[in-house]
Amino acid sequence: MSRASKGNKRILLTLRGRVQGVGFRPAVYRLAAELTLAGTVSNTTAGALIDIEGPGKSVDTFVRLLPKRLPPHGRIDSLKTTTREPSGASSFVIEKSRTRNAPDAELPPDLALCDPCKAELFNPSDRRYRYPFINCTDCGPRFSIIKGIPYDRPKTTMAGFTLCPDCAREYHDPLNRRFHAQPDACPACGPHISLTRSDGCVISSGDHAIKQCAALIKQGKICAVKGIGGYHLVCDATNAAALRRLRARKIRPSKPFALMARDIKTAASWCIVSEAERASLLSSARPIVLLQKNTSCAILDILAPGNRYLGVMLPYAPVHELLFTDGDFSFLVMTSGNRADEPIAIDDTDALRTLSGIADAFLTHNRPIHNRCDDSIIQHLTQPEPEISVIRRSRGYVPDPVTLPASKNMPVIFAAGAELKNTFTLTRGSKAYVSAYIGDLDTEAALAYYRESLTRMNGFLSVQPAAIACDLHPDYASTRFARDYARKNSLPIVAVQHHHAHVASVIAEHGLSGPLIGIAFDGTGLGTDSTIWGGECFIVRNAQFSRFGYLERFPLPGGDAATRETWRLALAAAAFCGIAPRLPQRYPVETVRRMISSSINSPLCSSAGRVFDTVAALIGLRFECDHEAQAAMELEALASAAPGAANMDFTGKKVYNFTVRPGGAASDARQKTGIMISLQDAYRQINAAAAAGTSLRSISLTFHRTMAEIIVAMSLNARAAGGGSAVCLSGGVFQNRLLLAMARHRLTKHGFTVYINTVVPSNDGGISLGQAWCATRGYRIQ
Ligand code: ZN
Ligand code: ZN
Ligand code: FE
Repeated sequence: MSRASKGNKRILLTLRGRVQGVGFRPAVYRLAAELTLAGTVSNTTAGALIDIEGPGKSVDTFVRLLPKRLPPHGRIDSLKTTTREPSGASSFVIEKSRTRNAPDAELPPDLALCDPCKAELFNPSDRRYRYPFINCTDCGPRFSIIKGIPYDRPKTTMAGFTLCPDCAREYHDPLNRRFHAQPDACPACGPHISLTRSDGCVISSGDHAIKQCAALIKQGKICAVKGIGGYHLVCDATNAAALRRLRARKIRPSKPFALMARDIKTAASWCIVSEAERASLLSSARPIVLLQKNTSCAILDILAPGNRYLGVMLPYAPVHELLFTDGDFSFLVMTSGNRADEPIAIDDTDALRTLSGIADAFLTHNRPIHNRCDDSIIQHLTQPEPEISVIRRSRGYVPDPVTLPASKNMPVIFAAGAELKNTFTLTRGSKAYVSAYIGDLDTEAALAYYRESLTRMNGFLSVQPAAIACDLHPDYASTRFARDYARKNSLPIVAVQHHHAHVASVIAEHGLSGPLIGIAFDGTGLGTDSTIWGGECFIVRNAQFSRFGYLERFPLPGGDAATRETWRLALAAAAFCGIAPRLPQRYPVETVRRMISSSINSPLCSSAGRVFDTVAALIGLRFECDHEAQAAMELEALASAAPGAANMDFTGKKVYNFTVRPGGAASDARQKTGIMISLQDAYRQINAAAAAGTSLRSISLTFHRTMAEIIVAMSLNARAAGGGSAVCLSGGVFQNRLLLAMARHRLTKHGFTVYINTVVPSNDGGISLGQAWCATRGYRIQ
């Protein structure tokens, strides 16, 4: 081709988005080859750069087709084109990465095994037949093995494995589907699997290890299996004895276990699977999806007692497929390989140490996991419109950022998050990077994981925080860490009230601006008046939150003890609305009564979560909880099973009485329109209904409707006070699908636009995003 070929054109395309680690460059190469165009494609620290030239018409076709020819997991966020003088290039070349500037590219999340790789895995004549580390540019580990950027093999935990000639040929062939697949490997050159005892002694290795592990599970044993983001504890979910053993060894009496189903069809044998749920189950993120049970049997009562839903995922790593095939299982329990509340184990010696009393054998391998990632959990909402709500955001989603509404010269913020279900957030430009799920920060191990994750995320993003945000609660481990960090680095720090942060997480996700109404129905968080909050209505202007309304405060006798021993809450309700709850003899009722009447160790709270606990105790459903939100989930299950539960338009139907008391709340002196909502009448009615033998299903349903109507009443009053017509709902209570559906429905009927969390959890896993948003907006407590 002559240098000045007539009609030739040359264009530079600068791309941002998910264009690395997903087979983007080969896809570009193929399109260029198809159109016989010349030029180059390269990874840059910020994304990718394409330099394309050839006949004008073909170049235009290239630019038009490029977005349609992206690899399955590619995504273009922005595309800038500049025209250049043709250079006379005659071939298309994939260039080496350019790594000079500050790294700014996105890291890909881990991707589930793809269909072509699965076919090879089970093809006896393929050289990777039954090889548990098979992957390609469309699938395999990503974030969990990445140690640095740009994403290239030397900066992953695959660095120690040298490609064999066969793999090297694939890796360097632009037309091969393993072209630059960084974790590419085969049995000749890649990692290997082995089965060990808890003392580290190897029982078997290679293919035999997988077969033997499947056989042990089949016999009812519990095995620790090293996966993508950490270890799982695995047992046969249809074996009651194995399940009881796992519950006993893990000291987990009733918290539901996550399941892995062999395939979609199997999942549908225990659960209702909608089209949308099917798509999520099969997505490359392969989250755990909370599916409604469609059958009742004894085994399900051990797996998820009292719960309406089962957490189900599909196999996502090759080793999962092999275990299912070898053991012919339908469902396996796949619960995080950790002790009680510690982080999921990733380090092999660590796993042996912490899981030795639980697992009978360990299926492990020598490809290190660098970044821990628990399984993500999501649920699908259908009413009034389909929406996905995230309960735990980790493997498959992290480290995808959330784009914040742009603001000029935004400093790098480190938001430390909450105490439970912790995540932290770092911002870079207008992107907020929410960390993988870290969990409860009440152990030294969790704190160490927290610190380590922060150091790594700082490294990946190449940022140094310029400002810090934390919770208002001084005793959260995250708050203490943040204050320490701020002091050592002389950085400004802002303490964000817990429920402000919940609401702000919705505002951040949707890029909203006020005025708007924020409703946080939650467990507990420290309020600005030193009482415990959790049933709050705010009017938000810019980043200023005024507390417009709240649920009537009641005492928490014994403080945190009342969260586990919900019978105490029945006594608290009894004391302030003059009822006599029926409690089992075994409880020290008189002692607690005295605590309440003399206000000893009985902090006041307005928590909606505790209202659910109170009702569960009043109706004799549950007096003690062994895991969070247990009572609320049981109430939801009962209410959902009641006749008429699906009817969201319950105008004219019975709700329990509540009172809206004006002037109860104004924390802002200029605002004299605050309200307080009293549930005293409702408690009396509920107590009487239970005493009269009304079905618990019916009481639960009416109670849910009551809570939805309270949300409506708060919103109507706030709108009348100038709060506008947009309502943001957040807080852990909104994981309750029935309540959320009712609230969205009723609010929409009243002309409100309702916003909820769909990217980060409405529980405390979303707090750090809210804190980050507040810190970028000049938030201060009024
Ligand atoms: Zn693949
Ligand atoms: Zn190889
Ligand atoms: Fe919370």
